[in-house]
Amino acid sequence: MSEERSLNFLEEIIETDIAAGKNDGRVHTRFPPEPNGYLHIGHATSICLNFGLATKYNGKCNLRFDDTNPVTEETEYVESIKNDIKWLGFTWDNELYASDYFDTLYDFAVTLIKKGLAYVDDSTAEEIAATKGSLTTPGIDSPCRNRSIEENLQLFAAMRDGKYKDGEKTLRAKIDMAHPNLLFRDPLMYRIKHEHHHRTGDKWCIYPMYDFAHGQSDSIEEITHSICTLEFIHHRPLYNWFIEQLGIFPSQQYEFARRNLTYTVMSKRKLLQLVNEKHVSGWDDPRMPTISGMRRRGYTAEALRQFCDTIGIAKRENIVDIGLLEFCVREHLNKTANRVMAVLDPVKLVITNFPEGKEEIFDIENNPEDPNGGTRKVPFSHELWIEREDFMEVAPKKFFRLAPGNMVRLKGAFIVKCEGCKKDDNGNITEVHCAYLPESKSGHDTSGLTVKGTIHWVSVASARTAEVRMYDRLFRVEDPSNEDGDFKDYINPDSMNVLPAVYIEPELVNAKPGDRVQFMRKGYFCVDTESSADKLIFNRTVTLKDAWAKESKKV
Ligand code: ATP
Ligand code: MG
Repeated sequence: MSEERSLNFLEEIIETDIAAGKNDGRVHTRFPPEPNGYLHIGHATSICLNFGLATKYNGKCNLRFDDTNPVTEETEYVESIKNDIKWLGFTWDNELYASDYFDTLYDFAVTLIKKGLAYVDDSTAEEIAATKGSLTTPGIDSPCRNRSIEENLQLFAAMRDGKYKDGEKTLRAKIDMAHPNLLFRDPLMYRIKHEHHHRTGDKWCIYPMYDFAHGQSDSIEEITHSICTLEFIHHRPLYNWFIEQLGIFPSQQYEFARRNLTYTVMSKRKLLQLVNEKHVSGWDDPRMPTISGMRRRGYTAEALRQFCDTIGIAKRENIVDIGLLEFCVREHLNKTANRVMAVLDPVKLVITNFPEGKEEIFDIENNPEDPNGGTRKVPFSHELWIEREDFMEVAPKKFFRLAPGNMVRLKGAFIVKCEGCKKDDNGNITEVHCAYLPESKSGHDTSGLTVKGTIHWVSVASARTAEVRMYDRLFRVEDPSNEDGDFKDYINPDSMNVLPAVYIEPELVNAKPGDRVQFMRKGYFCVDTESSADKLIFNRTVTLKDAWAKESKKV
């Protein structure tokens, strides 16, 4: 965490609270995911915020699964969420589940019934919606509103005991059907759902609503600063109301703005659609804005944390340029990823004066940014693969790569002078011919020549092949959720391009899933989770430069 930057508004609140001795100076936050999907980069900001504040103020941060809706929640999601948080580099103080509080929450509800502050309603969901009123008109009291406490206690117990079908009854708080905040118009506390729960099994058929679970869970855990996103701002008075009526620990809610990213979508509901409708290969598809997708693509935890720290927190919703995230990824990989050579679109280069069958081994530096990066052995021979685009038969003046008469340096090896090329009957270039200058060997160059271009290469005799998956943005437009029609209409049809056989240095055959490298001049790449010794697969993590920034400047 950078020490120089000024405090954000939550840090200001916390420091004021600590100075005032509130909660004995204790800071306790929580990250409360609903286990109904995989975490995305938006969640990462909330994770960095909650865990970061706890660390900064010597406090604690709980991981609490907000698992009050049995229909959409699954253990698979719980596991993925834990895995992602750990990978991001955070450790929770307690692993907790809202479902562990179902008994306590039930007792809380009984307390409110006994205080005349809750009642069982027979109204249907439609009737409840129709009698809510509007901002300008008050709601209408339910005919059940004045049930006796005794009757409410019996009916609520009967709800719990499974005497009713889904939707037949609800428990509502009895507040004020004319309240200016619509959430106070007798909000639902419990609904009946005969559903199996991923933790409590079939013990319960009534489940608490968000408003009657979240604040109470915070309070049970004695959370001091309950940080959530802005859409809950109108819930805050209700959050406080329940806590006050129950006389339990006064947790406090604070809101910050959701973080959205350009060229993607971020709601779990939409991400689930992409997965279910097979627009992507799964939650961890490298094009997904999920933490697992980004990890598989090669993004580092440091880069994600750096990104979250850089964008900070805000009080107004905004959309952050995905280019900034890519910049953070590039910056970190530039420092940490070894440079290696891979030829994506190959043409053969024949070194006419280098003996056939001879092999010379070069020690090439792994990472000029890392003094401890070491070197690796790269074989050089009579025939090499180079990129097709690095040769032009008729080249413009400023083409500093290979063209008849031009000289370039082969990275880490010799300077070569281009003699021409060979073509097939259709005029396609099949070979480029060069002569090498023996006295120009990298590190021992006595040629006195300086050349403007350096190109990468892989020796034909020892090259290995790999599949390379080139990724681009998943959507064609900046904010697909804000366009006409369905967000899926804006999926980028070219978001993945597979190169089935790319030539790579022999050294790379030992690369393991998760390893990250820079293919010189081509970008950063990461070994995919599906990769094996028999079939190496690389994902392009990010290009070396921001190609899209250039695009948008052109417009
Ligand atoms: P989604 O809208 O993607 O379905 P959610 O808010 O329903 O997300 P939760 O599992 O309830 O997902 O979120 C856990 C925590 O992460 C909450 O505190 C929520 O406010 C926060 N969070 C979710 N999305 C974002 C986001 N885009 N930016 C910042 N925080 C977020
Ligand atoms: Mg939610």
